[in-house]
Amino acid sequence: MHELPITKSIFKTVVERAKAENATEVRRVVLEVGVLRDFIPAIVQKYWDYISPGSVAQGSVIEIREVDATAVCGKCGIEYTIGRENIHNACCPTCGYRYGTLVAGSELRIVGIEIVRNKTEE
Ligand SMILES: [Zn+2]
Repeated sequence: MHELPITKSIFKTVVERAKAENATEVRRVVLEVGVLRDFIPAIVQKYWDYISPGSVAQGSVIEIREVDATAVCGKCGIEYTIGRENIHNACCPTCGYRYGTLVAGSELRIVGIEIVRNKTEE
């Protein structure tokens, strides 16, 4: 149930940015989430719908883009990608070594916010 505090902090950032941009409405929030985050998009949207009414972000859609993880092999040192499909069996593709150091894959960032500034201009 770690999605709620994360959703709240995303919400805070989105509302602040929307204010700074003089937005009247937030339509969509695009998040980039590493595959190693055990993040459930449907739950995030549910929390979002729960906390956003009455704010500028009311009714907006959360779009989640999953990004692959990256590890550096502990033996040969090459960097390789870990996708959702090999997350539980991610050996180095070059030497087959099982242990690597993760350098990316647990990130969570807001990569885009779609806003409306003035409804009458549409
Ligand atoms: Zn290797």
